[in-house]
Amino acid sequence: MSEYAIPLRDMQFLLRELAPLEQVAALPGCEEVTLDLAEAILEEAGKFAGGVLSPINASGDREGARWKDGEVVTAGGWKQAYRQFVDGGWNALSCDPAHGGQGVPRLVSALVEEMWNAANTSFALCPMLTHGAIEALELRGSEVLQHTYLPRMVSGEWTGTMNLTEPHAGSDLSAVRTRAVPQADGSYRVHGQKIFITYGEHDLTDNIVHLVLARTPDAPEGVKGISLFVVPKFLVEADGKPGRRNDVRCVSIEHKLGIHASPTAVLAFGDNEGAIGWLLGEENRGLETMFIMMNAARFSVGLQGIGLAERAYQRALTYARERTQGVEIGGGGRGKVAIIRHPDVRRMLMLMKARTEALRALASVVAAAMDTARCHPDGGQRSQSQGFVDLMIPVVKGWSTESAIDIASLGVQIHGGMGFIEETGAAQHLRDARITTIYEGTTGIQAADLIGRKIARDGGAAIREVIEQMRNVSGQLAAKDDERLAAIQAPLRDGIDALERATRFILDSYGSDAKKPSVGAVPFMELLGIVAGGWQMARAALIADRRLRDGGGDPAFYSAKLETARFYADHVLARAPGLAHTVVHGAAGALAMADDQF
Ligand SMILES: Cc1cc2nc3c(=O)[nH]c(=O)nc-3n(C[C@H](O)[C@H](O)[C@H](O)COP(=O)(O)OP(=O)(O)OC[C@H]3O[C@@H](n4cnc5c(N)ncnc54)[C@H](O)[C@@H]3O)c2cc1C
Repeated sequence: MSEYAIPLRDMQFLLRELAPLEQVAALPGCEEVTLDLAEAILEEAGKFAGGVLSPINASGDREGARWKDGEVVTAGGWKQAYRQFVDGGWNALSCDPAHGGQGVPRLVSALVEEMWNAANTSFALCPMLTHGAIEALELRGSEVLQHTYLPRMVSGEWTGTMNLTEPHAGSDLSAVRTRAVPQADGSYRVHGQKIFITYGEHDLTDNIVHLVLARTPDAPEGVKGISLFVVPKFLVEADGKPGRRNDVRCVSIEHKLGIHASPTAVLAFGDNEGAIGWLLGEENRGLETMFIMMNAARFSVGLQGIGLAERAYQRALTYARERTQGVEIGGGGRGKVAIIRHPDVRRMLMLMKARTEALRALASVVAAAMDTARCHPDGGQRSQSQGFVDLMIPVVKGWSTESAIDIASLGVQIHGGMGFIEETGAAQHLRDARITTIYEGTTGIQAADLIGRKIARDGGAAIREVIEQMRNVSGQLAAKDDERLAAIQAPLRDGIDALERATRFILDSYGSDAKKPSVGAVPFMELLGIVAGGWQMARAALIADRRLRDGGGDPAFYSAKLETARFYADHVLARAPGLAHTVVHGAAGALAMADDQF
């Protein structure tokens, strides 16, 4: 069985050429991470991912996390791996140096995060949730809260959780019922039940810091009456160490389709005297803070999808090289061949490879824009980059995770019957990928956010800028007068036209009848993802073409990049006009029948 190996050359290509680190490293506050240092980080992270996290991925899946009397025991090897993760400083990689972090740009830490997820998604969820909580504390925490929690959470000594979901409040958080009652000393007593809380209980650290959405007694109804609270598992003593147990208990953990080693907890807050918590940010503005944190987490879940896609591809590729079956079609020979020689298997492998590279390229460009939005000295540049990030986050989340399921499913298919058998590991990637389109907001919720908040609300300003940049790349391809580049340009041009048509339909119809464009919201998100991925693959093809003409090293990599971009154009981008048709014309069929006609 193969272990994960990082796609180092593709990651180097992104850092050196496509989303150049050089530009990010020129920003104030990002200067310290040179290309050499970034590549050294990638290599070291790759060793940790391949050598420590990947070997416990399948065993963690088989064993799962176990609940007993309110305690959760993580799978074998988890505690040691977590200790090594923390001791290696990996938890602090992207955090603010003001709280003990290493301040590595998002462009670099995103690639590292992809590796953790490729090697072991169940493990990677723990630091992912901790980072969400760190972000909220950095953003809205009082000095006391920051001082009490941040250094230990940044180092990884304590972990963090996000407590949004309740049995009747999932996508619709306005229905949150958990109560927080103010106390004379400024603290609150929290009462209520939260479900599906990732790493809500575990044995990896001696404290867990829960961020909990709850309502104060006189809060208005709906989303405008929700506040955010910090509720530690153990109350923190004056010396900064965990002391008395707080009134929060893990009632059970869930039995799931995938991510078995990630404990998904039902938490009871305040069954006795009330769990002690502290307000984070302003009262009744908890959802705003949570949304900032959720945006970061949504991007991270997109990276999960990319990691899982890469892992599924690597496993399928190994199998396709080893498994012999049948003779080569049109080959004339009688000898049996490895299945990689069969055109349909090659098509599936190329679909996995091309889509994964497009997802990674788009996520890297968005990560670089996050760095620009945070650090650029010019306010105009910051807000332009933020506009791009805001537009693209639902796409990175929704498109990457939906693609990951398809890609992992192709991985199973390439394994034939053995793909359906657990020992090969292909099935685990598909099972693990399945949750990624659901948590941190389902694909439907991402798509609704995309067409409503990110497109209709700003009158299409952000997407128009992106379309202009896409047209510019299409123009560069056309100007080259090269057959291979022309083959990429035509589907890209048609894809951009399709995206523009669908965008116009959304802008024209959203204000008057939001139901109609909402039917096509998910197809629109896929359309934008596919065309944006094609835009990045086209940029990659232009770079590869230049390198091949220059004769400057690594022709195998650059010619493969060019062929991969060509494949993407013919097999993926070519679907764009069909998706635009669905967006523009698809509402009638979906809305016509009465509920009882289904
Ligand atoms: C393994 C796992 C881990 C999780 N981890 C956490 C965690 O750490 N913290 C946490 O707080 N939560 C967590 N969750 C909860 C997760 O975020 C929710 O399950 C998710 O947001 C969906 O909510 P729901 O399950 O109530 O589904 P529902 O909201 O009931 O949705 C059901 C279906 O209806 C659709 N739908 C609902 N409303 C709309 C709408 N307005 N427009 C269009 N479609 C809509 C959805 O897209 C979906 O297809 C986790 C869940 C799981 C399974």
